[in-house]
Amino acid sequence: MRLPPLATGPGWPVLEPGWVWLCGAGPGDPGLLTLHALNALAQADVVIYDALVQEAILDWAPQADHIYAGKRGGKPSAKQRDISLRLVDLARAGKRVLRLKGGDPFVFGRGGEEAQTLIQHGVPVRIIPGISAGIGGLAYAGIPVTHRDVNQSVTFVTGHDQSGKAPQSLDWQAIAKGSQVIVIYMGMKHIAQISAALLDAGRAADEPVAVVTTATTADQQVLETTLGTVEADIATAGLEPPAIICVGRAVKMREVLDWQGQLAGEAPRNLDPLGRGRPAETA
Ligand code: SAH
Repeated sequence: MRLPPLATGPGWPVLEPGWVWLCGAGPGDPGLLTLHALNALAQADVVIYDALVQEAILDWAPQADHIYAGKRGGKPSAKQRDISLRLVDLARAGKRVLRLKGGDPFVFGRGGEEAQTLIQHGVPVRIIPGISAGIGGLAYAGIPVTHRDVNQSVTFVTGHDQSGKAPQSLDWQAIAKGSQVIVIYMGMKHIAQISAALLDAGRAADEPVAVVTTATTADQQVLETTLGTVEADIATAGLEPPAIICVGRAVKMREVLDWQGQLAGEAPRNLDPLGRGRPAETA
């Protein structure tokens, strides 16, 4: 396979007038954009972006109009219906439209709804996946979402439902019993109920938990705590969303894999945090 030249121009998809490309921007660090995202930024007439998209990324689309479609400074968020229909209008006006969403557009990002609306209105779309915060954000904190000694499954769960309330529709008993590692998006507001539900369902109070805020950005903060103390520790540390909360023994791996700490000159805290007692490369 021969690759086209980096990352725009001949051999790359063309963003035609009247199309909408629905694109993930990754969790924050611009380096985590895909090449398709970069190619899209270079071609767009209009970029409609969300609150979680780092604005620096827009510098790669200097030719485009930049439209903000998120919640900021206490202003009410643009309504989902309004955003979707605006995308339809822009496409019908013959614009090359780039819809940029934080992380991956199809992971708790309403990308499926937007794409469905566009297609229902006859607007052609391309989907460009992105690195989701629940995977990439944890990786920047030195937490692998799977590890052979820890888990053979991961559960991604949202701490909100459509009404913004703690998701009563979720069966936390089943999640607590069936999920070796639980990765919670939008969990900060309802962390008290969520941690209580997991404890009620039999998870241990000393189970490791990590809270990673503004992951992959210069402001990233990581709190290591436990299920029994997570609520109080978030309050004490004064942590604010956006945050990914990871529940499970995978969090222990940070003791050896905190590569950002190591970049800053810290020594690994524990070379064998899971207590294997033998080199990691052995089965
Ligand atoms: N589509 C996005 C998720 C959107 S839901 C994705 O795939 O990542 C919004 C939630 O994502 C936030 O409340 C938070 O839980 C999480 N999130 C997104 N970006 C984040 C970041 N940089 N750091 C921590 N959490 C983040």
